[in-house]
Amino acid sequence: MEKKKLAEYKDWIFRRSAYQMALSAINFDQQTIAPIGGNAYRDARCAFLSGELFDITTEPKILAIIDELKDDETADPDDRKAAQLYSKQANDLLCIPKDEYVAYQNLLNEAYGIWLKAKQQDDYAIFAPTLQKLIETTKQIYSYRTSDLSLYDRMLDDYEPGMTMAKYDDFFNKLKERLVPLIAKVTAAEPLKCDFLYREYPVEQQKRFMDELLKYLHFDPEWGYQNETEHPFTDWICENDCRITTKYLPNNVISAVLSTVHEAGHAYYEHDCDPKYDGMILSDGISSGMHESQSRLCENYLGRSKAFWEYNFPILQKYFPEQLGDVTPDMFVDAINVSEPSLVRTEADELTYPMHILIRYEIEKGLFDGTIATDHLDEVWNVKYKEYLGIDVPNAKDGILQDVHWSGGSFGYFPTYALGSAFAAQFVHAMRKEIDVDEALCSGHYEIVMNWLKEKIHRYGCRYTAEEVLVMATGEPFNVDYYLDYLEDKYTKLYHLK
Ligand code: ZN
Repeated sequence: MEKKKLAEYKDWIFRRSAYQMALSAINFDQQTIAPIGGNAYRDARCAFLSGELFDITTEPKILAIIDELKDDETADPDDRKAAQLYSKQANDLLCIPKDEYVAYQNLLNEAYGIWLKAKQQDDYAIFAPTLQKLIETTKQIYSYRTSDLSLYDRMLDDYEPGMTMAKYDDFFNKLKERLVPLIAKVTAAEPLKCDFLYREYPVEQQKRFMDELLKYLHFDPEWGYQNETEHPFTDWICENDCRITTKYLPNNVISAVLSTVHEAGHAYYEHDCDPKYDGMILSDGISSGMHESQSRLCENYLGRSKAFWEYNFPILQKYFPEQLGDVTPDMFVDAINVSEPSLVRTEADELTYPMHILIRYEIEKGLFDGTIATDHLDEVWNVKYKEYLGIDVPNAKDGILQDVHWSGGSFGYFPTYALGSAFAAQFVHAMRKEIDVDEALCSGHYEIVMNWLKEKIHRYGCRYTAEEVLVMATGEPFNVDYYLDYLEDKYTKLYHLK
């Protein structure tokens, strides 16, 4: 490729990253500290900036350069890979007629309000016609793309490149086979004591513990910053500037802690990417599943472990001498790992969580192959909760209306949550062969674990596919057995099952 063209391409990457940085910073600000009164003015300017970004992203001159670069075997392999990703992104956008694209965006805005109203009034019938419209419009939008994949496969591939219904069917069948009986055994076992987690824990004290926890996590103020929000999330703003959020509950000592460990996991994934990719598409995470694998690895495999609390429990106890005076470290670790089938996905424990995802996956598949209708979908939902989790769903707001995803047109996203947990198990298994994870955690060396992840996963951004990274980091392709073995082993011991 000519030098001049390459320079134009690099300049385009720079311009694009400037808009992205501005929009990320405004988004973080809006979701944490910005006064609501400024919303209308801010939204209008953000829409303008997004429009500018759209125009830059689809500049015909640059798209022609990208098109040439993506097939140029003499080009730098990183540049070539980036061009392939940019090209796909642009083509997926440009194939949709502009008026239909705008109408779809309007439908999404409207759908959010209708979903919220339906949830508040606890009435699925309010949302059903909109859900039907969302499905039809989504089908129409996807029909413009040229692809050999079936419709739902295309959606799955958007969130987890390379995954298909055939692969997910296999994955979820294995989960079903081994987890349904395990959950039944755990539910029938003697319950573990965990009431002490829900005593009165003043938020001011929780924040003082949080300062110590962030130090333990090596979440460095040089590149990281934490604030509060309603639904915790992570935002990468620019090089050496990664923001995380949490939410404090006065009657729950563990919620803010585990959400922080989770979000810091996302932050490490973003921050530890090789700086040579910063501002480029290659600095993004590989996929939703891979991102979630990193946050869940931190939350579940580290943050809920005995070794983690061997170091941190005495500190927590120091801040809450009355509330935790009668609790031993072992009791505490058992309590934060309690499993009990429940209605709401975001509050589910590690063992029952994948069943919530399985239910959504089966429903989405049915909605897009026409075997399940949106009319009375709440009843289908409730039957599946009884079948897989053994519980009765008393209302729609904690049932079918609990998640925002469908109102945002995100079909095919849910399965990545379960996949991420399974990826994490395979990474941890490989990591334990190379470093002493427990020793690192109980001696205050969390960074040893983060460095392993950086070396094996984070530094590559999305330079490689999930499958390639799994093989590079663990020596073998994805194998769900690591996840199922881990859950069986953990819960058999925890509940003293036979
Ligand atoms: Zn997450």
